[in-house]
Amino acid sequence: MSFESLGLRAELLRAVSEKGYSEPTPIQRQAIPPILEGRDLMGGAQTGTGKTAGFTLPLLQRLMSSEKPGKGRRAIRALVLTPTRELAAQVGESVDIYGKHLPLKATVIFGGVKINPQIQKLRNGIDILVATPGRLLDHVGQNTVDLSRVEILVLDEADRMLDMGFIRDIRKVLALLPKHKQTLFFSATFSDEIKRLANELLNSPALIEVARRNTASELVNQVVHPVDRDRKRELLSFLVGSNNWKQVLVFNRTKHGANRLSEQLNTDGITAAAIHGNKSQGARTRALADFKSGKVRVLVATDIAARGLDINQLPHVVNYELPHVAEDYIHRIGRTGRAGNEGEAMSLVCVDELGLLRDIERLVKREIPKVVVDDFAPDLSIKPEPINRGRGRQQAAPRKPAGKKPAPARNSQRPAFKGRPNGGQGRSGNRARSSSQGAR
Ligand code: AMP
Repeated sequence: MSFESLGLRAELLRAVSEKGYSEPTPIQRQAIPPILEGRDLMGGAQTGTGKTAGFTLPLLQRLMSSEKPGKGRRAIRALVLTPTRELAAQVGESVDIYGKHLPLKATVIFGGVKINPQIQKLRNGIDILVATPGRLLDHVGQNTVDLSRVEILVLDEADRMLDMGFIRDIRKVLALLPKHKQTLFFSATFSDEIKRLANELLNSPALIEVARRNTASELVNQVVHPVDRDRKRELLSFLVGSNNWKQVLVFNRTKHGANRLSEQLNTDGITAAAIHGNKSQGARTRALADFKSGKVRVLVATDIAARGLDINQLPHVVNYELPHVAEDYIHRIGRTGRAGNEGEAMSLVCVDELGLLRDIERLVKREIPKVVVDDFAPDLSIKPEPINRGRGRQQAAPRKPAGKKPAPARNSQRPAFKGRPNGGQGRSGNRARSSSQGAR
């Protein structure tokens, strides 16, 4: 199937072909026709599926066909809400790219940067606004934004917005929008709360789902490297250095952990930067730009900060710590193997995380191969320690001081890494090799 056959106008087809896309992704094939018809849409899709173009292309076309030329000042006719600044910026970029041959104007507003330039842009008149909920409400409070003429509302990554506690903000925004509008609702997961919100907002929506939410991408090679908790950093430096990886996204559970790891990697001579919610917008943008340009080899991120990051053809993703929420694993590894490129997702798993690993394997419905890296075989006598799950995803879990090994357990109830973790071989060679009998 081609983009032409989806009924998109010439200016959009031109932009798509200039971007280098030869055919629509499954979500684009499914989402574009009903959106063009003006229907509401409920889309089950993660980033990496081509979802952004899936809603942006038909949105631009709808705005073009409903445009009344020459009638007064521009009004905001499409509003896209996203959970994070990075995702807002990326959606904004996509709108610019796909809409470059159309006379529509778009702007992006999010917190963490000065509000005045945003006010100026809003004043100049725009057709499409991409925003995070908090900053949008700041503008509402200052009367610098008028949402009364919105024709199309997009809620992107609705589940993540709810996870981040934006539900009240979202409801406040919804109350300012016209009752009659087209609503496009995207979520990677469907909790009861999400379903309730969708039911309230959507009117006989077209339902589409791609890459079922609990299916890990087929293009991602997944592997677990069992390792002791206090040797993870050493193993990571070894993997990056010995394989000469140039671009690795590393996930950490906490902001503090992300900072510390990035500092330690720099000390090891591996250029690294951290990206998380406590960093200023400038620092986050810089870290991402440095990573994309190859100036830093490792980007250490928390789940929320990494959500929606669009880094093309990312070859390696490392779970330095497994996520508390198994579905975050799928989001994380979705950063690699995107849009047809193969990728590799490695998880450095210590004895404390075997429960989390079990949850993940249950979710992805397969056992992830365990590969012990020579010289990093876990010490089987180390007893698991409980992981502080905290209350929120972004909450920093108290961490053990590094470098201190816990006393070996005598009668551990949970023998952790069973089998022959080091393959029964010597401690030389520094090569990773497969062991199907690692962590279970
Ligand atoms: P998204 O899920 O919207 O974050 O898109 C994931 C990545 O796929 C982005 O880098 C897009 O540029 C890319 N992409 C989107 N649509 C296509 C397509 N039809 N063909 C190839 N790549 C695409």
